[in-house]
Amino acid sequence: METTTLPLEATIQQVLQQQRSFFSSNASKNVEFRRQQLQKLRDLIENNEDAIAKALHQDLHKHEFEAYATEIGFVLKDLDKALSNLNKWTRPQPAATPLFHFKADSYIQSEPYGNVLIIAPWNYPFQLLLAPLVGAMAAGNTAILKPSEFAVHTSALITKLINKNFAPEYLHVIAGGVEETQALLKEKFDYIFFTGGTSIGKIIYQAAAKHLTPVTLELGGKSPCIVDRDTHLQHTAKRIMWGKFVNAGQTCIAPDYILVDKKIKSDLVEKFKTCLKGFYGDNPQKSPYYGRIINQKHFERLSTYLSGGNIVLGGQTDAENLYIAPTIIDNVDIEHPLMQEEIFGPILPIIEYDHIQQAIDFIKSRPKPLALYMFSTNQGRIDSVLNSTSAGGVTINDTLMHIANGSLPFGGVGDSGIGAYHGEHSFNLFSHKKAVLHRSFLIEEPIRYAPYNKISKKWLKKLMDWTL
Ligand code: NAD
Repeated sequence: METTTLPLEATIQQVLQQQRSFFSSNASKNVEFRRQQLQKLRDLIENNEDAIAKALHQDLHKHEFEAYATEIGFVLKDLDKALSNLNKWTRPQPAATPLFHFKADSYIQSEPYGNVLIIAPWNYPFQLLLAPLVGAMAAGNTAILKPSEFAVHTSALITKLINKNFAPEYLHVIAGGVEETQALLKEKFDYIFFTGGTSIGKIIYQAAAKHLTPVTLELGGKSPCIVDRDTHLQHTAKRIMWGKFVNAGQTCIAPDYILVDKKIKSDLVEKFKTCLKGFYGDNPQKSPYYGRIINQKHFERLSTYLSGGNIVLGGQTDAENLYIAPTIIDNVDIEHPLMQEEIFGPILPIIEYDHIQQAIDFIKSRPKPLALYMFSTNQGRIDSVLNSTSAGGVTINDTLMHIANGSLPFGGVGDSGIGAYHGEHSFNLFSHKKAVLHRSFLIEEPIRYAPYNKISKKWLKKLMDWTL
């Protein structure tokens, strides 16, 4: 099918129409078809691993180790999980049948929604487009993918790989930015999966509401990191520095700010300094392991945050190179944009507290975060934080790592999002759970039919009691 010569809206309508017909033919529901296509995607990624890593380096100066750990290997692992569990996941799940239905079988059949739209951001431009796709394919949907326009090289490569290797009636990439996304959102999809900022998430939600389209919104926000006085300070510092500065802080679940017990603050800051020197040397700009800011707009936004307190480490910038040094800020002004907006870059504010309850109150006074971290060996204080705060996901005594457990659902709550995915949760998210009650003709109970009488009501009550 030739799609490039048509205007944007006509192209979208043509691809979507083809995907609707294909879905309606039941071809994408066939479990063997799903397996073959997942395997094909897996082979495609594996055969193009170097090209993908190169594109990620061009977009974000991502080191190939990080490109594999957080993007390529991450998606391959999700694919392996889907491939080995496809039979189990797609099987109808039996459900109990109350006695008054006798004789009948009950089960839950997972059916694909149909034609899904997946919209991705630029920070993990490969993983955040393809990991949801794995779930959509495993569940038997067709998909239109919209990569981020800011990850220019990765977007171009994914567009080429998918559009050359998959039939457009099954999978197709529409590359572009706001105009393309808004044109896509005018159409009726059966499911929309969006990853991006909270403000754009609201636009997506409104557009989906017009068609009553169900959505997953994987959004952002300020993810707090509490450091209790009872902790292993060396490991704590290392794990926070890693989670904050991987991908130059452009990670949706990076610790956004630190809430630390006053008693250990200065020790922690000293350990942070030692760790960063160990990771990136004296000049992180020269380190092959340290990333760059995605573009000028974000570089400028981040530069304004540097005036939000006292810089105790870093603070150096180089606009031409889109470089901002790993930066730690103390004596933070809570009203400054640094503490009012999601940072999404390599700047870490530190706020001290006297009592854990102050940290809890601070978190509760703000929108529910995508992630929450706590470093402590004190189970009582861990429990207080877990039971008093809400967050999409939590890692205790590490950062980011809950995302790397494919058995855990990954998603936000409140302002940080709706819905959760990864592994089997992705399959479930892209499947409608169809309730099926299959009755037999063996017994015909007369009491439900009119004309009703006192005896039928008596029997009805008995039957309903038995079913509880
Ligand atoms: P973004 O919201 O600006 O863009 C995301 C997508 O929406 C892009 O594909 C973009 O083309 C499209 N878009 C942008 N403006 C639009 C508009 N007006 N109408 C329709 N579509 C539009 O996000 P971003 O800057 O690419 O990514 C950063 C944000 O994403 C951060 O807030 C971060 O926390 C969040 N994020 C969340 C997760 C998660 O898993 N929850 C993961 C990564 C990033």
